[in-house]
Amino acid sequence: MSLRLRLALWYGGLTTGVVALVCAYSYAVHGRTHYDELDGVLRAMANHVVEELEAAPTTDARVGILNASQLLGAGFRVHDSRGALLGQSSFAEASPRAEPLSVQQAAPVRPYPWIGVLAPGLHNATGSRGTFGVARGPDGSRWRVYVVPMRGGNELLTALLPLRHIDATISQFGRLMLLMAIIGGLVTFVSGWVLARRALRPVATLTSTAGAIAQSRTFSRRVPLPRERDELGVLAATFNEMLASLDDAYQAQARFVSAASHEMRAPLTVIQANLELLHGRAEHLTEHDRGHAIREAWQETSRLSRLVADLLSLARADAGVPLRREAVELDRVLLTVIGEARHLAQGQRFEISELAPTIVTGDPDRLKQLFLNLVDNAIKYTPPTGRISASLRAAGGYAEVVIRDTGIGIASADLPHVFERFYRAEPARSRDPGGTGLGLPIARWIADQHGGTIELASVAGHGVTAVVRLPL
Ligand code: ADP
Repeated sequence: MSLRLRLALWYGGLTTGVVALVCAYSYAVHGRTHYDELDGVLRAMANHVVEELEAAPTTDARVGILNASQLLGAGFRVHDSRGALLGQSSFAEASPRAEPLSVQQAAPVRPYPWIGVLAPGLHNATGSRGTFGVARGPDGSRWRVYVVPMRGGNELLTALLPLRHIDATISQFGRLMLLMAIIGGLVTFVSGWVLARRALRPVATLTSTAGAIAQSRTFSRRVPLPRERDELGVLAATFNEMLASLDDAYQAQARFVSAASHEMRAPLTVIQANLELLHGRAEHLTEHDRGHAIREAWQETSRLSRLVADLLSLARADAGVPLRREAVELDRVLLTVIGEARHLAQGQRFEISELAPTIVTGDPDRLKQLFLNLVDNAIKYTPPTGRISASLRAAGGYAEVVIRDTGIGIASADLPHVFERFYRAEPARSRDPGGTGLGLPIARWIADQHGGTIELASVAGHGVTAVVRLPL
């Protein structure tokens, strides 16, 4: 079942239910009130006639009273205590026979429909001396009967009032209420159906756009924003934001793949050319040229394997592979890194200005990779006469590692970009053709994963200061 149909059914069903309840209750109150009112009138009339009859001095006077009483619009009969008829008004002659004794003995009969019991009664009949009942005329019409004892119980007065008019009015009112409930239900169902279509139109647009995007396999399309900024408007806007971020990620991925292939092509071309040279024209080459070709191919191979290792690290980072979490003695890690770096150095002097024993939680191999990337850059971009210093101290809940060199530095225009993948600034690019442009992005990812930060500060020509902060 569609959401639209369900909404319309719920809306129509609930409203119909409420309207039906209101109509039924109005019918109950309306019906009961009218019949109760009538009972009150009948009782008052009967009591009045009883008073008059009891005060009448002669039989003639009583006959006169009975005949005059029909002006009240009701019929009256007088029976003796055994039920024999003693006299009646002429109006009562046309009314149904209602044995006063059986009326008195029968269980009380409600004149109103059963639903009337739900409504409050109009007046309290307790204390009333008489008994109410209902009798049917020969034509099927109903009469309200009230039997009240008089003259000390020796006689019974029966008052009869036709219910024909009020029965007709109340059943007409009942039909009207039923009709209203049905019409109300239909109207709310149809308006619910129309409203649901209007409300769900943006969802339909969203669905078709999402379908088109799925087919086109690009994220450049956007959902048209509805004019109202309601829940569906917010949904559409959020959907667009999601598309924009997917688009960004998709483009970045495409750029990354193209940059990676580009970076790989250069060393592969060099290796291929040198191997062709060695294979095809080996006899024409001098020993020196052969050695050069082999060395160059070897250098490119090691660059390629570095590149692949870096790409692997970044692929792991992108895939969200979790890092190990264990207590790491940062001072030991830094010492190991400096020790290894000394072998790579081409004459640069190393110094450790401060080395506080510090423990952080994290992955020791990754942290080593982070510092190695920084120290490796310091070596690559610092002349052999330069100096590289490292320090480690704890401050403000963080372990702070500073690696400073006296090398070529980074121009302020390049500084904001050095953490981008494959970004390499001049003159570093021409100076060190072996770099990959992935060292700093990897370092930043590792720092992020440890809940830390990494910052680079530099003045071109005056070296670089790298500061890494990791939570203790
Ligand atoms: P790579 O060093 O392999 O080129 P990185 O991501 O490590 O790649 O560094 C990106 C760029 O930032 C480098 O190409 C270089 O231009 C610059 N850079 C990083 N560290 C230093 C440094 N210590 N001194 C000068 N330039 C640096």
